[in-house]
Amino acid sequence: MIPRSSYDEDHEMFRDSVRKFYEREVAPHHAQWEKDGFVPKSAWAKAGEAGLLCATMPEEYGGQGVDRRYSAIIMEEQAYLGFTGPGFSLHSDIVAPYINAYGTDEQKKRWLPLMARGEIIGAIAMTEPGAGSDLQGVKTTAIRDGEHYVINGQKTFITNGINSDLVILVCKTDPKQGAKGMSLIVVEAGTPGFTKGRNLEKIGMPAQDTGELFFADARVPAANLLGGEGQGFYMLMQELAWERLQIAIMAVASCEAALKWTIDYTRERKQFGKSILDFQNTRFKLAELKTQTQIARVFVDRCLDLLMDKKLDVSEAAMAKYWTTDLQGKLLDECLQLHGGYGFMMEYPIARAYLDARVQRIYGGTNEIMKELIGRTL
Ligand SMILES: Cc1cc2nc3c(=O)[nH]c(=O)nc-3n(C[C@H](O)[C@H](O)[C@H](O)COP(=O)(O)OP(=O)(O)OC[C@H]3O[C@@H](n4cnc5c(N)ncnc54)[C@H](O)[C@@H]3O)c2cc1C
Repeated sequence: MIPRSSYDEDHEMFRDSVRKFYEREVAPHHAQWEKDGFVPKSAWAKAGEAGLLCATMPEEYGGQGVDRRYSAIIMEEQAYLGFTGPGFSLHSDIVAPYINAYGTDEQKKRWLPLMARGEIIGAIAMTEPGAGSDLQGVKTTAIRDGEHYVINGQKTFITNGINSDLVILVCKTDPKQGAKGMSLIVVEAGTPGFTKGRNLEKIGMPAQDTGELFFADARVPAANLLGGEGQGFYMLMQELAWERLQIAIMAVASCEAALKWTIDYTRERKQFGKSILDFQNTRFKLAELKTQTQIARVFVDRCLDLLMDKKLDVSEAAMAKYWTTDLQGKLLDECLQLHGGYGFMMEYPIARAYLDARVQRIYGGTNEIMKELIGRTL
């Protein structure tokens, strides 16, 4: 394989400690969490203790002030082991950065250290039953009333939604406007009028809680507004490249893991007196998939380097998200096929990875929306 050049020795030491954490603290429990439908808060606290949460946040707010390659390592190691339960990346690398970038000093001191310790869990609520790809169509309103906002509306498909203690809510403070009327408001669990609905039953990622959230005259202090009123859409646009690259990072790691499982399996499994790997069809299929995964790896690492230099633009991140998640879907299908009937059995990681991967083409902006974004640059 082409050597990776984005990571130094410190990164690799960190990688080693992250892998050990997942092997020690997640591997023995993930199957139970899949049955439960969520990752318990005790596991979040352990991740916080081990430095896996909010690592890129400044030290004064409980983080370690490290660069985003450390986040990529946490995502990769989780994906290599096929553990889709812990929603750590959304908490640390999507929710926390909004608070860090747009929060007041008081807001940061109040929430970020608790998030870094895993004492509170973060979520971000954009999607509504009637507003998915078209984010400007959100109908949830937050109307100012003295020192509070009064919030009404409904959100769905929210990752960490059931476990969440803190939700960055995308809402309209000026419902007459489109994008210009959108704001981000932090809503804390326990706020009267804010309730959580079902933990939604999904075809994959069963250990990750995905919930519905309801707001009925929920009164939230005006001090929970992030940034300025009407700035929500602008703020959401700023980190899109990083948010989409995260999905690509997980996609490539998942492809690498699946290739390894499949090479190991087809080497062991014998039919017609030889290993499945010795059939030319198997070698050709795996040669194609290995080539494509290598191309994806080089492209995504390069995107990460560009991100570090603040030079990754939204359309390149969209390319990474769309192409790697398409590859992930195709690769898992082919790799499952090479496992024969065993590939259909949930006790094999390839079966779970196949189901878990399906959503990668949908969330974070669907792959069709990614092509729209790329198309606009033609
Ligand atoms: C497991 C999971 C976790 C999620 N986590 C979160 C979360 O934490 N927070 C959050 O806010 N949301 C979350 N989502 C929601 C996710 O981001 C949306 O599902 C996604 O953006 C698509 O929106 P939609 O489901 O309403 O589909 P729609 O927008 O209704 O799209 C339906 C189909 O139409 C296509 N389409 C739509 N518009 C166009 C267009 N202009 N051109 C061409 N085709 C188009 C789409 O590509 C898709 O194929 C999650 C979803 C899932 C499944």
